[in-house]
Amino acid sequence: MIAVEEALAFVLENSFPLKESEILPINQCINRNLAKAVKAPIDLPSFRLSSVDGYALCLHQSNTYSIVDEVKAGDAANPSLKIGECVRIFTGAVVPDNADAVIMQEKTIRNQDTVTIEAPVNKGQNIRLRGSQVKKGDFPLKKGQVLQASGLAFLKSLGIDQVEVVRLPKVTIVITGNELITSSEKLTRGKIYESNSILLQAALLNQGIETQLISFTEDSLKETINNLKKAFFNSDIVLVSGGISVGDYDFVKQALKELEVKEIFYKVRQRPGKPLFFGKKDQGFVFALPGNPASTLSCFYVYVLPLLTRLKGGKSNGLIRVSIPIAHDFSSDEPRALFLKATIQNKTVSILDGQHSSMLVSFAKANALVYIPEQGVFLKKGSLVETLLLPNTILT
Ligand code: AMP
Ligand code: MG
Repeated sequence: MIAVEEALAFVLENSFPLKESEILPINQCINRNLAKAVKAPIDLPSFRLSSVDGYALCLHQSNTYSIVDEVKAGDAANPSLKIGECVRIFTGAVVPDNADAVIMQEKTIRNQDTVTIEAPVNKGQNIRLRGSQVKKGDFPLKKGQVLQASGLAFLKSLGIDQVEVVRLPKVTIVITGNELITSSEKLTRGKIYESNSILLQAALLNQGIETQLISFTEDSLKETINNLKKAFFNSDIVLVSGGISVGDYDFVKQALKELEVKEIFYKVRQRPGKPLFFGKKDQGFVFALPGNPASTLSCFYVYVLPLLTRLKGGKSNGLIRVSIPIAHDFSSDEPRALFLKATIQNKTVSILDGQHSSMLVSFAKANALVYIPEQGVFLKKGSLVETLLLPNTILT
């Protein structure tokens, strides 16, 4: 059995960006990672422009300027100014070549055809220079950069319509368990409604990944081997749910062995999720996740997520970790490390009731996981605790 940190280190040292890439229109690139650096095809901005509404001045000693023309956003005009002259100008408009500065409208008094400035002006004031954001030929975004709304918009502002991104990992889910039925079936004695398929599918979708296949497997060695074999075909990651513990009807470990999967680790000193397995078959990875739903999801967030992010070209080590004051006393003498469902509110974190690995009710309300290291802790209210922010959690 290995420690959480060792397990995570094994995942990270085995995770490299997928080699293949694809060229996609910008509007299909949200959350994708650049396969190579992007070269700026133009200067940005591509002309000198005014950053305010006001007057573009050809500077002289006096505070009064005569207004000779007007330039608004989108105009191509380049009125010629003599010393002491100005043009009315608006935000985003081209600054005439021989204007020295722009003064904000709010700092002027307008007369008929003249304007008096009420504040000192420096040369270049309120003028955004050509290329001041990015110069043509520069590489403003590097290989691996994840493209968020801002990145997509930035590329569009350079006139770029398509970009080369790392392809997405192909993920297959294998669900095991004789007791599992779907919500369309009648709930009979001994059966439970299956929930890990949607759990994993949705957690993947949150990362922009569509599951390519979900298979349901009876607890038998033969069927487990068959379904795993199919899953490995054309998958970068196989996620197995359940059947990885030590029960007589847990066949995943044996099936993986028979399929010659290389074990990287099995069993982590953590709760939930102790019987986690991570291995490799050819170029593909497999995580066998313990079937209790809170274990499945904790293991997904802590170990699968960093692998996914790195395969798709990013550099993340997983969920963002922050140190936050705990809202109450907390102590534990548990030898294993704990990932506890929690909520962050008013800049403090509270551990929720219902921490058993079978319970989703607390997870469904959580926006964070509190990490308690091995051998437990004795925490007073207000002490700092390491807290992992679940995806989409924004600290307020
Ligand atoms: P296992 O890891 O297969 O020993 O399963 C541990 C517990 O998780 C058992 O109580 C299972 O019934 C439950 N479980 C396993 N797989 C699922 C699933 N796909 N959906 C909901 N519960 C599950
Ligand atoms: Mg099972």
